[in-house]
Amino acid sequence: MSTTSDLLLRRERLLGRNMALFYEDPVHIVRGEGVWLWDADGRRYLDCYNNVPHVGHCHPRVVEAIARQAATLNTHTRYLHVGIVDYVERLTATFDASLDTAILTCTGSEANDVALRMAEAVTGRTGVIATDHTYHGNTTAVSQLSTRMPPVGGYGGHVRHVPAPDSYRPLGGMPGAPFAEAFANEVEKAIASLQETPHGFSALIVDPFFANEGFPDLPSGFLAPAVAAVRKAGGLVICDEVQPGFGRTGSHFWGHQRAGIVPDIVTLGKPMGNGHPIGGVVAGADTLNAFRRAFRYFNTFGGNPVSCAAAMAVLDVLEEERLQENAVVVGDHARKGLESLAQKHGAIGNVRGSGLFFGAELVADRKGRVPDAELATRVINDMRRNGILMGKLGIHQNATKIRPPMPFTIENADMMLAALDDALSRL
Ligand code: PMP
Repeated sequence: MSTTSDLLLRRERLLGRNMALFYEDPVHIVRGEGVWLWDADGRRYLDCYNNVPHVGHCHPRVVEAIARQAATLNTHTRYLHVGIVDYVERLTATFDASLDTAILTCTGSEANDVALRMAEAVTGRTGVIATDHTYHGNTTAVSQLSTRMPPVGGYGGHVRHVPAPDSYRPLGGMPGAPFAEAFANEVEKAIASLQETPHGFSALIVDPFFANEGFPDLPSGFLAPAVAAVRKAGGLVICDEVQPGFGRTGSHFWGHQRAGIVPDIVTLGKPMGNGHPIGGVVAGADTLNAFRRAFRYFNTFGGNPVSCAAAMAVLDVLEEERLQENAVVVGDHARKGLESLAQKHGAIGNVRGSGLFFGAELVADRKGRVPDAELATRVINDMRRNGILMGKLGIHQNATKIRPPMPFTIENADMMLAALDDALSRL
């Protein structure tokens, strides 16, 4: 077996430099089960980070479904197969009745790429609006939307960015309705700006939970004025559910349901196959048919029988183990725990999130709400050394990102809270 230093060298030689790796002291993981991971030395870690193994690492139900289907048949969607039809029927039943068809892909990036093209097919226009701290994937088209690594040659003339909502420092200085109106005003300005170009306005794409932006605490209805502005301009609303989907936020199965809106197109990924690569785009039949008329579209691996078996097993386990309900109970408990820690540690400026996607914003000065990204880095590295894996994210890169597999328990949450308390006391 490779030592960690040996593996690091081979990785860099064979996979190239600058390939992202978590932690100052990287973790070499060899096994996972439920909410636990084990490294090459047999050390156990509590996984507070990974949302892809949605129903738990290596869940036996999903493993069995994949193995059974892989041993029976795996091919593509140009043959008839009942697996994809059964899955899409079950999947679309969780949405508003207007969202009744789907295309399956292999990744969230592909799903967003398809969504943008769907909006183009429907509107005949290409202008797109996203937030200025988002991430929607890695294809040429969707990487135009991400602001962390600007594209070579700059953003295309068809892209506009609006300020990502920050509930701790709300636009216009006030929470509630004025904040929602301020966000909608930015969207309106972006629409008007696109309408002055040959691109015109096609779609607004948002993660309705604004996960990568730092999961701001927004009331249901926050997005309503922006959605109204989009519809008034004849544009489409695309909701990226790669992060908040499949019950993650506890109160609702989908982030847009929690936000109180019905989008035109929804994109899915990460947790959908518990680690098996499957993504998807859900839309009304007219929208989907307009896309197929304009572009045909075929995805060699998307919607294959093994992927559909994995995704179906995820829905089974979510239901049978009542994991959405678990997200409410454990998430509430953990957030209350973080709020108690905030009374003890001045570095915790703001606690927020929903269900099993939550965290604390770390600040250098609570009064000035001055972000402390450097402290967040030290905290997550310290937690890693103590056997707890978590991350950080947000507009200021100072919010702890706690987003564990859904079978996370109250005991798991208490273990994480105790380690965080200890880390903040020492750092
Ligand atoms: N949308 C969002 C909101 C994401 O967070 C990500 C991945 N982090 C993607 C899309 C892209 O998904 P994938 O990596 O499967 O292409």
